[in-house]
Amino acid sequence: MSDRIYNFSAGPAILPEPVLLRAREALWNYQDSGVGVMEHSHRGPEFTEILEDADALCRRLANIPDNYRVLFLQGGASSQFYMVPMNLLRPPHTADYVDTGVWSTKAIKEAQRFGGVHVAASNAESGFSALPVHYVWSDAPAYVHYTSNNTIRGTQFRQPPAVPKGAPIVCDASSDIFSQPIDIEAHGLIYAGAQKNLGPAGVTLVIIRDDLVAAGHDDIPTMLQYRTHSQAGSRFNTPPVFGVYVLREVLAWLEGLGGLEAMAAHNRAKAAVIYEYLDQSQLFRGTAEVASRSLMNICFRTDSPELDTAFIAEAAARGLAGLKGHRVVGGMRASVYNAFPAAGCNALVAFMEEFERKHS
Ligand code: PMP
Repeated sequence: MSDRIYNFSAGPAILPEPVLLRAREALWNYQDSGVGVMEHSHRGPEFTEILEDADALCRRLANIPDNYRVLFLQGGASSQFYMVPMNLLRPPHTADYVDTGVWSTKAIKEAQRFGGVHVAASNAESGFSALPVHYVWSDAPAYVHYTSNNTIRGTQFRQPPAVPKGAPIVCDASSDIFSQPIDIEAHGLIYAGAQKNLGPAGVTLVIIRDDLVAAGHDDIPTMLQYRTHSQAGSRFNTPPVFGVYVLREVLAWLEGLGGLEAMAAHNRAKAAVIYEYLDQSQLFRGTAEVASRSLMNICFRTDSPELDTAFIAEAAARGLAGLKGHRVVGGMRASVYNAFPAAGCNALVAFMEEFERKHS
C-alpha cells in the first residue's frame, strides 16, 4: 500500500497488512452481524469463536501439548514479572534468573519482592552484548527464568539454557514468540506481550503447564492467580477482546504462510541481508556478538553519535521509520518481526550503502 512506510519499530510494531485490512472491516461490522468486533459481548457466540480459534491456532502452530493452558491476559509482559514469582515463589525458596539486560533485570527486581533470587548468569560485564556462557545454579530452584530475545541489546537464545533437572523453565518470549519453532515441553511457562509478533498492545499470551497452575499460591488476589484464568478460560473478567481478535487473525495469517518453520526461514533470510551488510561495512558495525545475534532486533551504530542521528533522520525521510536505538543504548535498531517484509530489509541496506558512500 503506497501510503504505508517501512516500520522498524521495536513495539508496538508492524502488523501484517492483510490483518489490518480485515480488522478495519471488522471494527465496523463483524461478519455481517451489524455490530463491530469491539462491541460484541465477550460471552457471545462471536467472541467465543474468536477465543477458541486463538487457542486452537496457538496449539497447532507451536505443538502445545494438552497439559498446557493458553491464557490471554492483560497488564503486559511487565505484569508477568510479578505474577510469576507471586504464584510460584515464596521463602525459603529461591528462583534462578538469567540476567541478559534491561527486561530480565526488571523481572529480577520484581521477583525479589516475593522470595530469594539467585542470578545464575549475567552478561552485564560484556555490556549485555553477548549471552552468558557460565551458569551457576542454586540448589533446587523453584524455577529458572530467562528472556529468549533481548529487545534492547539485540541478543537471542538459540535454545533454552540447560538447567538443573526438574526446575521448570519460565521464558519471557515477548520479542520472539512464534518467530521460529519453540520447544514448549522444555518450558513450564512462556509469556509474551502481544505488541511485537502477535497483535496489538493490551493482550498478553501465557502458556503454562497444568502442574504450575495447580502449584500457584491461592492466598493472593484472585485476578493474579493463574488458576483463576485457567479455570475461567481467560474469561474470569472481560478479556481484551479486540487484542484477542487481532491475535487470532495474525496467527491465522502465520499458519497460512506455513507456520513457524516457514516463518523461521523467512526471518533468517531477512536478518541475513542486514547482518551481511554490517559485517563488511567500514562505517556501520553490529553491536551484538555474532553468536548471540537476534533475528528480531538488529542493533548497529557508527562510531559517531552525530552520524547516527543523521542516519536515523535521513532514513526516516526515506520512509524507513523507527530505527532509533533504545534510549539506554543509543545507536540504531532495526526490528524485523514476523510481519516485517523482506523488501524493507533490502531497502534499509540500499540506504545504508548510499549513506556509507557519502560519509566515507
Ligand atoms: N520483555 C521484553 C523482552 C520486552 O521487549 C518488553 C517490551 N519491550 C517487555 C518485557 C515489557 O513488555 P510490556 O510493555 O508488555 O509490559
